[in-house]
Amino acid sequence: MDIEILEMAERKAKFLLKNSSPAMANALRRTLLSDIPKMAIDKVEFLTGTIMGDDNKEYESITPLFEEIIAHRLGMLPVPTDLDLFVPQSECTCNGAGCPSCSIMYSIRKTGPATVYSSDLQPLGGADSDKLKIVDPFIPVVELTAEQGIYVYATAVMGTAKKHVKWQVANGVGYKYLPVIKIDTKKAKNEDVVACAESCPKKVFAVDKSGKLTVKDPYECSLCRACVDSLGGADKGISVEGDPTNFYFKFETDGSLTAQQTLDKALDVLSKEAKDFAAEIEEL
Ligand SMILES: [Zn+2]
Repeated sequence: MDIEILEMAERKAKFLLKNSSPAMANALRRTLLSDIPKMAIDKVEFLTGTIMGDDNKEYESITPLFEEIIAHRLGMLPVPTDLDLFVPQSECTCNGAGCPSCSIMYSIRKTGPATVYSSDLQPLGGADSDKLKIVDPFIPVVELTAEQGIYVYATAVMGTAKKHVKWQVANGVGYKYLPVIKIDTKKAKNEDVVACAESCPKKVFAVDKSGKLTVKDPYECSLCRACVDSLGGADKGISVEGDPTNFYFKFETDGSLTAQQTLDKALDVLSKEAKDFAAEIEEL
């Protein structure tokens, strides 16, 4: 199994999975979706009563949204995750009590009229706390009217999307079989073959200088076979088949990890699971 990177941006990746199998492609897809650990807010404590504003006026601790809706919205925010630094609470030396290795604490204290954004979550403690600020600063959480205020403490811990979607790093994970497109001008007139390229909705083909049809962008091909149909069916000049050993993959991340970190971690997880499985078979 080989991987060839086609595009690796901060939060977006496109790559080829080569010399592999449909089972492995699907295993990688499922691992990317549900087995990559990240930090997400899991506990929110609302302080009720009167909040003293920066203007020395008193505000009521109340918002237009129910507390559980705000807690849910906070849970979905992308918390930056350093996989070398953080561990799940169940594996931490603090035995799950909560410490800087397994949890990040944030506070929000804001008074209206204003919109509370993800950037209003202040990481607590540590000189490097700025590194722990929510990745996207302008995600709206709740809108406060005049005389309303919010004062909460929120704790992020590590988890995976097997338990809840708020721990899902990668989204839009998809793959398709790479196409094998064969153009045979002996079986049809060149002008007919060139004309059939017009029927391609993905604009996969181009015409070279000698007037011959060539495959310009195979990764765009969705195996719809419109080109084959417009020539009158299979074996009439163009054939398009899916290759079950080579796959075109793409996915995006929510920003808690980079696309490269996410792919590296997915391969680590798959490799570890395969070794564990082999060891268990050995024992049997
Ligand atoms: Zn801990």
